[in-house]
Order: sequence, then structure tokens, then C-alpha cells
Amino acid sequence: SAVVPPASNSATNTNTTMHATVPPTKRTPNDFIFGKVIGEGSFSTVYLTKDIHTQKEFAIKVCEKHYIIKEKKTEYVKREKDILFYLSNTPFIVKLYYTFQDAERLYFVLSYAKNGELLPHINKVGSFDVECTKFYSGEILVALEYLHNMNVIHRDLKPENILLDENMHIMITDFGSAKMYKPAVDRKTKNGVSGCNDDEDEPRRRKNSFVGTAQYVSPELLTDKPVTPSSDLWAFGCIIYQMISGLPPFRSRSEYIMFQKITKLEYEFPSGFCEKARNLVEKLLVLDSEQRIGATDKVKYSSIRSHPFYESLDFDNLHKTTPPPIY
Ligand code: ATP
Repeated sequence: SAVVPPASNSATNTNTTMHATVPPTKRTPNDFIFGKVIGEGSFSTVYLTKDIHTQKEFAIKVCEKHYIIKEKKTEYVKREKDILFYLSNTPFIVKLYYTFQDAERLYFVLSYAKNGELLPHINKVGSFDVECTKFYSGEILVALEYLHNMNVIHRDLKPENILLDENMHIMITDFGSAKMYKPAVDRKTKNGVSGCNDDEDEPRRRKNSFVGTAQYVSPELLTDKPVTPSSDLWAFGCIIYQMISGLPPFRSRSEYIMFQKITKLEYEFPSGFCEKARNLVEKLLVLDSEQRIGATDKVKYSSIRSHPFYESLDFDNLHKTTPPPIY
């Protein structure tokens, strides 16, 4: 049943206050027909909508201002908006088309991921075959190459934040925890320690988000070491493991025990785990972030692309390729 948020006529476009690319066309909630709710976040509701002019479908994320202020999420929401505009137009990353607001709400017009999150697709079949794992992890790698070349670290990469569009290609989402990374040359903190978890404007990580993400969190984040792009490579290793085996490598009911397992690199491969995939995962799940495969690549991520697991995968044309069926 269609749920329509009361779209105010006084909606104003906020593009003039944005730091990044300003989208050309102004839109208001009245330019969209609001359909069903497709998801709910801790302070947002996402609707399937249709642009009344073009009939094109979009996902619109609606955030209640008073709730954002009450929950002190202003920085988080602003960060997501700024980074998504900055990332603009690239395959495999959700696109933010417009933002606008009315007195009570903020609206984010996003590309619609018709096939939802990656996680239920893995869970439905139990695990991916090698072909599927190569393809989907290949798309994630291409997205990470783009992000890291743009000096953005996602910091919350997990199968729930990887959405699938109507053609079953991936779209990485949820940039609220993401961070602009200072490249090595000017990467010095007040204490002279290289890294990038030093910003004073750093929004506090959402507690619930952190709980949900615990399985993919890198050891450096748990031991207060600098978080670098390589932290996303750790999560990438966890995701490849999960695609092949059905479950993430570090698991426990107790978050404390799970964190211990992560910092001690305590995990096992089930029997029958593809050997080449195993070799790649072992090179990604390395405690020292600088020793992970790809971490020192001049051309990101040539060393991962040329790993034997990806033999014959045409990385540059993945977005034009029909994805292999999931089973
Ligand atoms: P939280 O803010 O609590 O971490 P979240 O990041 O999942 O949660 P939202 O970004 O509001 O919150 O997304 C809520 C749900 O809506 C998600 O679980 C996702 O499945 C769905 N969703 C979000 N964006 C899209 C999109 N562009 N297309 C399709 N579904 C989406």
C-alpha cells in the first residue's frame, strides 16, 4: 500500500549550500509520486518513488529533521550527502541525484536498487559458486578502486550496504561513516602519527551501526590504529570469505569475543573452500594493514586484479557484462 509522506509545497532546494557538484535541475517532493516503503534506517525511511516528468523510478530517503537533531546525527547526514555528491557518476556506487528539504524533512533522491541488499541473496542460496563470487567481488573491487582513488574510505563495507540494481549489478551505499582520506604526502596528525582518524569534525560512529558492522570491522579500528583505505580491503576479504562459505569469517554471539578473534586473526576455512579464493582471502585478512595485498599498489588495485582467483575476469567491462545467475 502506498504511503505518502506529506510533501510540503514550501519545499526548497538546498543545492546552493552544497560544496560539491550542483545538480542542474531543481526538484521538490511534488515532482515525485511516493510509493511503498522499501526500507527503514535508524533515522530514515526509504520510499520507492516515480519522477512525474520522466516516469523514472528513484529511491527517496526521507529523514525527519527533529529526530536527526535529537539523535545528534547532523554530521552523519551531512557527510553522507557531501560524499555522495562528490562521488557523482560512476558504476557500482549509489548515485545521489537531488536533495531538497521542507520544514520537517530532508529528502535524498537516490538511484533505486530494485533487487535490494546483497546479504539476502547470499543467504537464500547458502553461498555463491566461484563464478558468482569472482563477478560480484570483482564489482566491489572496482568500486573500491574508484573510492580510494577519490580518497574516500567507506569504513562500513558489508553485504547489507551492497545493493543490487534491476540488472543485478552492485551499488555500494551508506556513506554516513565514510571519510575523506588524506593521501600519504600530507597525512600527519597533530601527534605526528600518520593516519586519518584524527579529524575533529569526526561524527561519532553510530552505536547500532557499529554493532551491525562488528563482523567486518578491521583490527586497526579495534586497536586504535590509523584507519586507512586498507581497512576497506579487510572488509572486502571478509565478504569474499562470506560469499564462498555462506558466513563471515569472524563470528560470535559475544561482540567482545568476536573482537578478540579479529585482533588475533582467529578464523578457519571450511573444507572445500576454493583454493585460489582462500589464497586471496589470506592475503587480505592480514593484521598489519600495510601488508595486505593491494595496500601499497601504485595503481589500485592491480595486484588484486592479477591474483590467480580473478584469472580471465574482464574487470573493465563488468558493468556491461550480464551478471552470472546466483545459485
Ligand atoms: P541505518 O541508518 O540504521 O544504518 P540504513 O543505512 O540501512 O540504516 P537507510 O539508508 O535509510 O538506512 O536504508 C534503509 C533501508 O532501505 C536499507 O536497509 C536498504 O535496504 C533500503 N535502501 C536504502 N537505499 C536504497 C536504494 N537506493 N534502493 C533500494 N533500497 C534502498
